Amino acid sequence: MACPSIGLATEPILTRFVYYKILTLVPVSAAFTAMVRHGESLLWPLLYVGLCLAHAGIMNAAKCPHCPYYKLGDRTFACFIWWGTPKLWAEREGPERPWVGQYAKFGWAILTFFPVYWLWQEWPLLLIYFFGIAGLVMSIGLNECSRCLNFNCGHCGVPEDLRREYLE
Ligand code: SF4
Repeated sequence: MACPSIGLATEPILTRFVYYKILTLVPVSAAFTAMVRHGESLLWPLLYVGLCLAHAGIMNAAKCPHCPYYKLGDRTFACFIWWGTPKLWAEREGPERPWVGQYAKFGWAILTFFPVYWLWQEWPLLLIYFFGIAGLVMSIGLNECSRCLNFNCGHCGVPEDLRREYLE
């Protein structure tokens, strides 16, 4: 039997979703505070929101329909990132297209570095921002990628024996 701390996340858990939303709020709040305090126009924070929504939409359309958590739901799906979200796209078999992994890194880098110009003008916010991002990425890597059912994802860190046990 697998140790519970490394066991697979066989179903979405609401508290994990809430945890990641709270964790995400830390760097996002720092970014917005810096943009509002130091930006000349509110168009910048609005553009940032637009980029975040566009990135989430692309990942939702290109990656999620391949994911087992997406397929667990009937009309909506849930995981540590989405909860009660309508399934807008038909489920797809097999791994996601190769460009999705490349795009994910590119989109993530754009969103991460977009607010840095304004954060740079108030270093305590810059520190909160980068420590918040580090905490978020490490939490996902340590607690989600190591337990995720999406074995086709390039980030999945579930050991081979656990994958085999689950698929048998
Ligand atoms: S775990 Fe990732 S790929 Fe799967 S449904 Fe959630 S966000 Fe989409």
